[in-house]
Amino acid sequence: MKNIADYHIHTKLCGHASGEMEDYVQEALKKGFGEFGFSDHAPAEEGYDPSHRMNLSRFPEYIENIQDLRDKFTNVNIRIGIEADIYPGFESFLEKLVQQFSVDYVIGSVHYIDELPVFLRELPSFTKREERQLIRNYFALVERGIRSGLINVLGHLDLIKWIFPESTEEILDAGSKVLETVSKNGPVLELNTSGMRKAPREVYPNPAFLKFASMLDIPICLGSDAHRPEEIGADFDNAFSLLEEIGYRCKGLSENGLKVFCNSLV
Ligand code: ZN
Ligand code: FE
Ligand code: FE
Ligand code: ZN
Repeated sequence: MKNIADYHIHTKLCGHASGEMEDYVQEALKKGFGEFGFSDHAPAEEGYDPSHRMNLSRFPEYIENIQDLRDKFTNVNIRIGIEADIYPGFESFLEKLVQQFSVDYVIGSVHYIDELPVFLRELPSFTKREERQLIRNYFALVERGIRSGLINVLGHLDLIKWIFPESTEEILDAGSKVLETVSKNGPVLELNTSGMRKAPREVYPNPAFLKFASMLDIPICLGSDAHRPEEIGADFDNAFSLLEEIGYRCKGLSENGLKVFCNSLV
């Protein structure tokens, strides 16, 4: 794992992850990472989903903890990231947050469509028509996130397959259009391995998206979405072989210095 990094790692400050931040560092070192980044659920404006993220009052502590770990562990490069929710009107709060604090990168993710959690286990039943509309609304939000210019990494692009596993075609259609926006607007696409540990049993986004991304020459970074120290770098071996197969055989740096895979064919 020397040349590659895990950029999607949570901490217990968000309220639903476990382990001390130092345990994550130890685990990353154990697995041979030369670089990784914390990217906990960022604070959002008051009233937006407070139970899944750290409160703004804890944010300085989050940044300081990472800076202290950086000073303590000089043999690994620790980046300061956040996972920010994309929702209607998310821009102004996020913009102020990243202006005020030194953040290396922002992963943008959609976790709610209107009020509907995209990570729900038991779903109310929807008609096919409603389902299609929700898929459109989901990707409209993703698109909004990309166009905001506030996002460096696009998180788990097709998370919505978690709630609509039957709608593969619709998701691929809508998501592919979004990838065209990604290729013009520049965020790195995240290959998130957490889907391997859960019901989808495949990475986010799925291989069809990754192939399209390679055609569009979109760079890719890796994230485990670890919520426990042991999950750092989980299934990265599978991710490597998948990327290799698709043609992502080069390594480079993104605009803001993240380690990425690039397509060797272009
Ligand atoms: Zn989480
Ligand atoms: Fe997420
Ligand atoms: Fe996450
Ligand atoms: Zn996530």
